[in-house]
Amino acid sequence: MLGLMQDRPLLIQHLIDHAALNHGDTEIVSRTVEGPIHRYAYRDAQKRSKKVAETLLALGIKPGDRIGTLAWNGYRHFELYYGISGMGAVCHTINPRLFPEQIAYIVNHAEDQILFVDLNLLPAVEKLLPLFKTVRHVVAMTDRTHLPPDLKIPNLLVYEELLADKPGTYEWPEFDEHTASSLCYTSGTTGNPKGVLYSHRSTVLHSYAGALPDTLDLSARSVILPVVPMFHVNAWGLPYAAPMVGAKLVFPGVALDGASLHELFETEKVTFTAGVPTVWLALLNHMQANKLKLSTVKYAVIGGSAAPPAMIETFDRDYGVEVLHAWGMSEMSPLGSVNHPKARHLSLSHEELLAIRLKQGRPPFGVDMKIVDDAGKELPRDGKAFGDLLVRGPWITSGYFKGEGGDVLREGGWFPTGDVATLDPDGYMQITDRSKDVIKSGGEWISSIDLENAAMAHPAVAEAAVIGVAHPKWDERPLLIVHRKPDVVLDKKELIDFLGSKVAKWWLPDDVQFVDAIPHTATGKILKTRLREDFKDYKLPTA
Ligand code: ADP
Repeated sequence: MLGLMQDRPLLIQHLIDHAALNHGDTEIVSRTVEGPIHRYAYRDAQKRSKKVAETLLALGIKPGDRIGTLAWNGYRHFELYYGISGMGAVCHTINPRLFPEQIAYIVNHAEDQILFVDLNLLPAVEKLLPLFKTVRHVVAMTDRTHLPPDLKIPNLLVYEELLADKPGTYEWPEFDEHTASSLCYTSGTTGNPKGVLYSHRSTVLHSYAGALPDTLDLSARSVILPVVPMFHVNAWGLPYAAPMVGAKLVFPGVALDGASLHELFETEKVTFTAGVPTVWLALLNHMQANKLKLSTVKYAVIGGSAAPPAMIETFDRDYGVEVLHAWGMSEMSPLGSVNHPKARHLSLSHEELLAIRLKQGRPPFGVDMKIVDDAGKELPRDGKAFGDLLVRGPWITSGYFKGEGGDVLREGGWFPTGDVATLDPDGYMQITDRSKDVIKSGGEWISSIDLENAAMAHPAVAEAAVIGVAHPKWDERPLLIVHRKPDVVLDKKELIDFLGSKVAKWWLPDDVQFVDAIPHTATGKILKTRLREDFKDYKLPTA
């Protein structure tokens, strides 16, 4: 017997309609690429996203067509999220920090019909234009007065001109909730980038789960500033979850330096923010150097890479900010787990609580997790055994766009994350390492993340990375690569002695190399492939 409840599809456009009706005056504030702060409210955003849909129809766009965006976090990008998906097309967000050839590959693979481009990215697109095979129009996300006069993009369209003569009265169509809504390519540290194709249903379910108190704890009282870019897994779903709960949104634009972020946090009374460790390093340095405080920020989500313990403690002790350590991936929309201590953890000692906070957290309902050994046999949830982490759920991918990479699911519909992890009886998952970064020494595994965290706790270390390098006896041994803070004295011996009190003796790096900077990926993670390349001829003193 079937239940008798209505079969109303879960569609992204319903989120903005809900916000316009129930939170119509709630603000969306943006630091624009042009410079000034722009403010309006959900009611205005809804009307302008309808104008976007009307514009796309006028340009001949059909449901299912892919529309590319090369843009920072701002109100026009937000309107595109809703206008494109709401009319049944697919919003393809592109990371402007990728190499030009990668951008061309992604645009051609997705067969983007139109590219919406922020003002400061137009010169890059001008150069790439001859490489694009399917793009019919480029739209400059600005008004005519801001356009650089010498730009040579044939038939360039201007966003504000396109919207100006549209009525904004479009009636969103209703369609199957499984319809594709947006597309995001993984940065592809190996091989070509692969597309993850989200649906309306997966996006709305992910928003519900994301808003829960033990996930991101979002509500109509939240003021959300996503530092994580809208091209990095849909800013971790925040542009969808915010209108669902009626939270105020603050978009930082292109200025992600400590000073610009700090100013927005204070002037807009931000309560919630989210980003990768690299941006938080810059913010914390700026606040320390200028003796600044944070008066309203309650939560800072750290995800994308492991949160170093020193960062969790600094946010808490010096700024009164609770770090929410989160884990996920593009293939998971991205939320897989968030760390909130349970009630009984709050009476633990500082050290014990920190050990829990370092874990990547518990999955919300909807994400199933298990760990398996090399033969695929499930391992115990005892917080000690570690193995390949597999996941499944309604906002987890079943395969890549156009079948790239073939069948990716294991038996039972499990998706292999490429991460190695432990699970404990309380439901907490802890990443040991990415399977390709873990250091295999004499048949045992050394976690590069644990070593990096230990090194980052030294006051003279700005950033640390650990890679495995070949060793004749042990197969691989850890090499620690360190970027020192300016004007400090720190040598190899002092650092190794310091690590000696934190990790097992056989984990201690065989050598330390000091560098001027640690390379990062386009999403701000440590670029280990480059480090392995840079140190490929390096010989360990112990070898
Ligand atoms: P890519 O790194 O390929 O660009 P994602 O941005 O989707 O793709 O990254 C997903 C990966 O990032 C995860 O599989 C995991 O290795 C790593 N990651 C994400 N969050 C964390 C975290 N909190 N701690 C450790 N690793 C993390």
